[in-house]
Amino acid sequence: MISKMLCSSHTGRNLLLFWRIDKAHPRPYIVDYGEVGKMHHQGRKVLSHDFNIVWKQLMDSGSQSLRTKADHIFDAQAYVTSKGSHRGEEVIRIFSDGKEYARIYPCCWGHTTNCHGTRIGGYSESLDHWVR
Ligand SMILES: [Zn+2]
Repeated sequence: MISKMLCSSHTGRNLLLFWRIDKAHPRPYIVDYGEVGKMHHQGRKVLSHDFNIVWKQLMDSGSQSLRTKADHIFDAQAYVTSKGSHRGEEVIRIFSDGKEYARIYPCCWGHTTNCHGTRIGGYSESLDHWVR
């Protein structure tokens, strides 16, 4: 079971910690965290491919211009995160009109919003369909 807990970070911002206790981990351990007031990995999105398969194909093919069901055109590109809490992780960056709109990390795949509460469901779905 994942529980939520509110705490203040050293930067003075309120953070929501998501922690868990189970048989293998009798002491609570933090599974994720996010800023209060931001949505966090909201609903589920059913996808047929794993994140790493989509990421790999995107890495091999380079930036792709795709379209969501709602007819929103975007570019997707595969990267490895160079800094922050996701450093070293594979990420898919979504660009809209040349500006970065969202990042999809492995943990966000299959959710309607990413870690930062940005809606990614439509982009994930298009990427999932693009992969073959
Ligand atoms: Zn995430």
